[in-house]
Amino acid sequence: MEGVKRRNPHQPEFVQAVQEVAEDIFEFIQDKEQYHAQQILRRIAEPDRVVSFRVCWEDDNGNIRVQRGWRVQNNNAIGPYKGGIRFHPSVTESVLKFLAFEQTFKNALTGLPMGGGKGGSNFNPKGKSVREIMRFCQSFMTELYRHIGADVDVPAGDIGVGGREIGYMFGQYKRITNNFTGVLTGKGLEWGGSLIRTEATGYGAVYFLANMLATKGEDLNGKTAVISGSGNVATHAAEKIVQLGGKVLTLSDSGGFIHDPDGITQEKIDWVKTHKTHRRGRIEEYVDAFPGATFHAGKTPWGVPCDVALPCATQNELLGEDAKVLVANGCKAVSEGANMPTDLDGVHVFKAAKLLYAPGKASNAGGVAVSGLEMSQNSERRAWKEEELQQMLKDIMMGIHQSCLTYGDQGGGYVDYVKGANIAGFKKVADAMLAFGVV
Ligand code: GLU
Repeated sequence: MEGVKRRNPHQPEFVQAVQEVAEDIFEFIQDKEQYHAQQILRRIAEPDRVVSFRVCWEDDNGNIRVQRGWRVQNNNAIGPYKGGIRFHPSVTESVLKFLAFEQTFKNALTGLPMGGGKGGSNFNPKGKSVREIMRFCQSFMTELYRHIGADVDVPAGDIGVGGREIGYMFGQYKRITNNFTGVLTGKGLEWGGSLIRTEATGYGAVYFLANMLATKGEDLNGKTAVISGSGNVATHAAEKIVQLGGKVLTLSDSGGFIHDPDGITQEKIDWVKTHKTHRRGRIEEYVDAFPGATFHAGKTPWGVPCDVALPCATQNELLGEDAKVLVANGCKAVSEGANMPTDLDGVHVFKAAKLLYAPGKASNAGGVAVSGLEMSQNSERRAWKEEELQQMLKDIMMGIHQSCLTYGDQGGGYVDYVKGANIAGFKKVADAMLAFGVV
């Protein structure tokens, strides 16, 4: 870890992600000579390449704006690089390297042949006009297109990149290359997208949660849930919780959280979806539409007592102190919809409390899993039915849960899902790397 810190100065998120994996892997590889002899740990913590580029675009007032874009191609040992694109002012090389690193293990866990990558820009979509978004996406793709391909690297959405942005980027890719191919996932249904891709991350996180609860003979019926975020992952997680008989108490955005003690019903979730996606509104306005609720400015929702918690906003949104409050309030299970939302202190609190705690690389893998299914459908040039895809998503989440049990069962009724996910993901990628020799 000292070497990782030295080689990656000023990249705290990347170091954090490597540390979280390394804590479990050191123990696993202790007596396995092949991984040591081939320097697998040293190699797996070094991205295959990091492409950094300038993105120029013109705003509506005619000003020339310059942003930085990246694509981190982390590891393609088990398939083409695969992972989303994030547009957010917090994006740095460190953030994208951590996300690409996590993605590598997550994608391995799905059982589908996908390597790990991630890309993005420090561009802030908030307050931009639709035309500005389009110009930015086109400019971003004008450089990115030369680094990607259906068998090379397949980007998708992430924070700040949804169906609209994927459309603008796919349109530009097609225009430049004259190639209609499955080079991006999260596409619209009319042009090669897959059913349930939009719902998959949130639904998958709840399926994983249900699998964890089932090991204790419990289910979601009648359970209270605290959820952070109010985007695609959070709203679909909320929807599935409601469908399975649970009661959702909170949602949030960067301005604060709303607490609705009556429960956030399907009708209210639909309002949030329209409000956030089409009106590009703030969660604060929820309390005007539904007066039973309260808004808590500048706060995260972890202090609201609950049975289960789903952090679905962003990295490091749940800190050690928050984890202690959740445990003290009797929270039984935490399923991460976001990537690395719990910081290292928080992870240690959950592990010590022996909570049912799923790291994002296991529990939020449903999104990229259905992306993998979108790639298969594109290669086959056909579209599968909704029921087939729903079942495949459920099966994949159950398979990931099983992998976590295989490597994370500590006996005495406690499963360390972090350890299970880290070892299962690592083993698949590392064994493929061993087969290739020193490359
Ligand atoms: N951005 C999502 C993730 O973090 C999805 C990536 C994809 O579909 O390629 O897994």
